[in-house]
Amino acid sequence: MEQITSGLQAAGHQADFSSVWRAVERLLRTHALERVPLGDGATQYELAGAHHDHVRCVRCHALAAIDCVLHESELRGAERASGWSILEHRVVLDGLCPACRDAQAPRSAHANCVSPRAEPAARDTASAARPARARR
Ligand SMILES: [Zn+2]
Ligand SMILES: [Zn+2]
Repeated sequence: MEQITSGLQAAGHQADFSSVWRAVERLLRTHALERVPLGDGATQYELAGAHHDHVRCVRCHALAAIDCVLHESELRGAERASGWSILEHRVVLDGLCPACRDAQAPRSAHANCVSPRAEPAARDTASAARPARARR
């Protein structure tokens, strides 16, 4: 919401938070805009279109659209198991985006693998080079 407001202001529009909120509410009511809950209280809004699900990076919080991860048969199975009628769904998968995965891989999952592109390991010298505390 703050992003929309600041984006409009950056584009030269007079936009205050409450008028943006009213517009978003109106678009949500007419289903022109969809709410994508991100699980930690944050919400992303996007234009409604063909159904898709999302994947979110747990590191940099980038959000990307992916093809629907649920099949009709799975939804029907969930209906049978729960007794509920499922009308719609929004799936947000947590993951690592390609940039964050590449940044993380040499240190964690592949720490013991021989990497084809050997990079010098970045060492944390700040903690090792801690100056001795002067005593009185
Ligand atoms: Zn990322
Ligand atoms: Zn889906």
